Amino acid sequence: MAGPFVHTYRAAEPGLHVNSYLVEAEAGVVVVDTNLLVSDIEALHARVRALNKPLLAILVTHPHPDHFNGVFGLVQDSEVPVYAAASVARAIGEVAEAKREQWSPTYGAEWPAKTYYPNSPLANRAEVRFGELTFTVRELGPAESHADSYFVLSAGGRAPVAFIGDLAFNGMHPYTADGHSAGWLATLDVLASELADVGTLYPGHGDPAGPGVFAEQRRYLLYYRELVRRLSGGQGTVPPSARAELDAAMQAFLPGAPLTWMIGLGADAVAGELAAAPAAPAGS
Ligand SMILES: [Zn+2]
Repeated sequence: MAGPFVHTYRAAEPGLHVNSYLVEAEAGVVVVDTNLLVSDIEALHARVRALNKPLLAILVTHPHPDHFNGVFGLVQDSEVPVYAAASVARAIGEVAEAKREQWSPTYGAEWPAKTYYPNSPLANRAEVRFGELTFTVRELGPAESHADSYFVLSAGGRAPVAFIGDLAFNGMHPYTADGHSAGWLATLDVLASELADVGTLYPGHGDPAGPGVFAEQRRYLLYYRELVRRLSGGQGTVPPSARAELDAAMQAFLPGAPLTWMIGLGADAVAGELAAAPAAPAGS
């Protein structure tokens, strides 16, 4: 067959519009990231079954529930290897129960009953093969989350593609509440050159993109940090009276973009990060 084919399952707004990717090869299907809510996970599972090929493996890019929550549902038919960079697997172990406590009251029965943890941790730059598919993991440390990574997929003579998790949101307001915006900016600096030979970038939120998506994400974060810096006055929190201004400014920066509630969600985390970090020297 031609291919591989990359199919996308995208959640609606309650599920954060998160993308799960189904990489269909001759011998079966590899799923990259697994969605957040039970109804979406069931739909993703149905999509896997509709391809009428075995599920070969699941890859998880980073330790946020909209990416790892669905593993439990997908392995109900048959347990498969669940790969993640070692730091990502470790972080999922550390955050999954706290995330459940934080979000279960909001989502109720839509939050999966159990967490299935990655069972196959990978060293940085390790390769995993499924027939003609080769995935190479790149472990990046804290950026959008406490432990980010991406996977490059090579298949035959085709240009490689990459599944970049949430290292760049494409046309949506990003999650900044883990408070690593400085680390994220540093990571973005290297990604564009590191992934220069990659044809298509498949983000966790938004449409497939080229390497310019990293520069866009960088611009967004720089602007957001400057606003938060001014509105928090170095106090480690953005006061309620300044929230509307932050919201309006970021919505003007990315007109019509979804996930607007992310703007306020991360404000105090970034304010705290800025308050704790030494100010850049003048003129830098
Ligand atoms: Zn996400």
